Formats: sequence, structure tokens, C-alpha cells
Amino acid sequence: MGCRWLAPGYDFYEGAAEVVPETKTVVCSGPERVVVKPALPNRKIYVEEGLSHDERNLRQLVEWMPKAGYNTLVVPIDYQGKGRVMWDKMRGFLTPELRKRGITLEVGGHGYQNFLNASSDGGALYDAHPEWFGMDEQGERRREPRYVICTSQSRAVEYLIDSVRGYLRAHPEIDTFAFWPPDGARWCRCDACRALGPDSEKHVRLVNRVAEALREEFPRLRVECLAYEAYLDPARENSLSPDVMVDFCPIDQCFETQIDDAANPKNRMYVTAFRRWRDRFGGQINLYSYYRKYVWRSLPLVLPHYIAGDVRWYAANGASGVSIYGEPGDWAAYEVNHYVLARVAANPALDVDSLLCDFTQARYGRHAAFAREVLDLFERLPRRGAAIPNTTLKTVAEYDGWLAEIDAAAAGLARRIRGNDPYSRALRRLSLSLEYLRDEFALCRLRAAGGSAGDAGVLIDRMVRWADSCAGQGVVVTCNFTAPRLGWRHGLKR
Ligand SMILES: [Zn+2]
Repeated sequence: MGCRWLAPGYDFYEGAAEVVPETKTVVCSGPERVVVKPALPNRKIYVEEGLSHDERNLRQLVEWMPKAGYNTLVVPIDYQGKGRVMWDKMRGFLTPELRKRGITLEVGGHGYQNFLNASSDGGALYDAHPEWFGMDEQGERRREPRYVICTSQSRAVEYLIDSVRGYLRAHPEIDTFAFWPPDGARWCRCDACRALGPDSEKHVRLVNRVAEALREEFPRLRVECLAYEAYLDPARENSLSPDVMVDFCPIDQCFETQIDDAANPKNRMYVTAFRRWRDRFGGQINLYSYYRKYVWRSLPLVLPHYIAGDVRWYAANGASGVSIYGEPGDWAAYEVNHYVLARVAANPALDVDSLLCDFTQARYGRHAAFAREVLDLFERLPRRGAAIPNTTLKTVAEYDGWLAEIDAAAAGLARRIRGNDPYSRALRRLSLSLEYLRDEFALCRLRAAGGSAGDAGVLIDRMVRWADSCAGQGVVVTCNFTAPRLGWRHGLKR
């Protein structure tokens, strides 16, 4: 009937997040009842770092999710233990909104340390039980949260489980408990832990133990864990319980080629690991995707065809779900990724070009065809040429060609932007992302040409000013965009 739920109703869209035509009579010619069975049952949005979320935009996100085809919201218990992004701060206003819409709530995230750490029991725990804490290679029991507890100390594991139980009792709204080690986990190297084998064995033993301990008291709760870092590959000795759900994390995926490009060593490693999981594990495996990656710092990698290609592979190889990070701050830069991911997860055979035609018609109106050219540029260029992990620096000649293409697109946008109608505002957002990409490639070109750190510094300062000047417009998460971080991405010390 012409309704299009393009994006959450964030304020910067100024009412143009969705299209609902005005009509006197509604005529529905289809069947009275339509039942759709999505190919991938779990379609999640992660709040994760929560850099730009607040009560208002979280409500807007949740309102939009089911319209777009997402059915699970994932929120950290306490992201990185910093007391900033916490489910406890959102549960009051979000729980009723999630319930109303039948959205599954997943809470947890990185942090066995949320349940047992050196400052537990008012700081007394480490002194009372140093043997509960992870040992480093030098034989020292470490207090830092990235050291996983000594999982061969059964009393330490019992303490952790009691603490998890306490949290879950106090939070009966949680459907799925995401039980992950700390990010960058260091596993215990004591003799007893060494005897348990590789870290992936310790990981599976602990997750199974926790899932088993929770089963009776919380029969409807699902436990979820990751396939990531040292535990990317499935364990050989211990089998993960099939009622646990796995999120598979290809964090070092190379976006220059598809995940199933056998010629790419990084991607081949992930395909091999995923297949091993599928062969050895009877439960659900979801793709924890990086189609909106924090380290991209809001660069416009718009990947509708790429995402569809990957999702088709995962769906054909036994995946049960997908997820993506969602930050309101740069939602517009990635709105196509968010829109397309849920659609292709429901139907991997979907024709992406017709979906894009439909989306751009609603978003850009009379400028739809030109907008698709710009989006196509955003799909082709940054994943091949930007300074992002696992994409290689290209030649000066390649950057020159791309910069000319960007300039032509920018001129085309400038000719079309007129006034403040929704289509011009949408084009203006494309134009801002294009400006960023131009400086990004100018910086890459400078590096390819062996330019000076001083010249790079000038460009970086300009990019930071760009980010500040377009705060609140949906194209950049400003607080994630600083000169040192950009310099780091470009391999520069300042
Ligand atoms: Zn140990």
C-alpha cells in the first residue's frame, strides 16, 4: 500500500524516516492472513558500544525494528564494565516497548568479570582467593578483568554461577543471556587449566557448566556464546550443548572480497571455522556481522549486494541468524545496510536491485537513479581503498581515478540539492559522506605517494572539523572520531 519503513524515526530525519501515503480509502487486495517464515529466524540489532544512544532514540529504534524485520535487541549488562552502557539504565522504559512488539531481549556481552572480579565482595575476593584468578604466562595470578578466572577452580565457577543466577533472578525480562569472555580475553595458564587443552576447550566447558546450572531455574532462558578470537574454532574434546546458541564473529573479514572467496586467506579461515562448527554442533549459529563496524569510524561502506552475497552463503550453510551494530549517530550512513540485512535474512533469494530501486524511490524521489549511482560508488570504493583493517593500500593511480569519480558524483549532488525538502536533505547526507570519503582517499593517496606526516596531519584535522560540523545529522558518530583514532587507522603516530 506504499508504506516504507526506511529507518527508525530519528530526529535528524525530520519526519522522513518512513513513507506513509495519505489516502481516503484503504484497499487491500491480498489474502486476509499472510504468514511469513524467515529463512534466518534470529535477526538482531546490537547496542554494543552505545556511543550515541539515549532514551529517545532507543524507543525510536525499538518502534522501527519489527517493521523492518528485526526481532531481537541486544544490550550489554555493562559495556567494558564502565557503568555507562547498561541494561539497568534502559530496562524501565524499554521492557514494556519490547514486550508490546514481541521483540526478544538479549542481555549480556563481554564480561565474565561482571560476575566475578578482583573488586567483588568490596575488594576482598582477590585477597581471600587469589587462586580463583587467571594466571599469566609468568605464573602470576592477575586482577585485571581481561584475565579470565581460573576455570579449573570449581569454587570460583560456583561463585560466578551464583552471581549470574542473582542477576537473572533480578531481571526476569531477559530472554537470552549472552555469556561472553572479556574482549581480548587472556585465559588462565595454571597447570590444571593447561591440562584442559586449548582455550576453546576451557570456553566450552565453562559455557556448558553455566547453561546446565541455569536450566532448571530458568527453563525458558537461552544461553548464547561467541565463536571468536582464541575460541573461533569449535573445541575438539568437548561438545557445546546444543541448547546454547553461538554467535560466529568474523571480525577480521576482508571486505575486498566476499566471505566465501576461497582465494582470500582471512575469509577462507572463517568459512572453514564456520563449516567446522556446523559439522560438530547441533544448535543454532548466528552470523555476528561487521557490516557496520566501529573501526570504520562512520566511513560510508554501503554494502547491499555484498551483504546479500554473504547472507546467501551463511543461509545455505546452516546459519540461523544475523546481527548488526546499530548506532543512531551514523545510522543514515549505514541505513541501506540496516534495511537490506533484515530483508535478505528473511529471504536470501531476494532481488537486491529491485529492493534498492524501491528504497531509493522512497528515500530520494525524483533523484533515485542518481542516488543509486552514489550508493554504488559507496559499495565499490571504500571497501577496496579505504584505510580499514584487512583492506590494502592501493596505488596513486587508483586513488586518482577514484578521486575523479568522487568529484563527478559531488558535482552531480550539488546540482540536485535544492532547498530543504526531504529528498534534498537525503542527498545532502550523501554529499557529507562523499566529502568524508574524498578526504579519506586523499589521505590514502598521500600515503601511497610517500607524503609527509605533516601533510597527513592537515588532512586529518580537516576531517575532524568535518565530523564536528555535521554532528547530529546521522552521518557520523562524532565522539568516535578523533585525530588520534583517525591517525591510528592510517598507521600514523602524531
Ligand atoms: Zn587455572
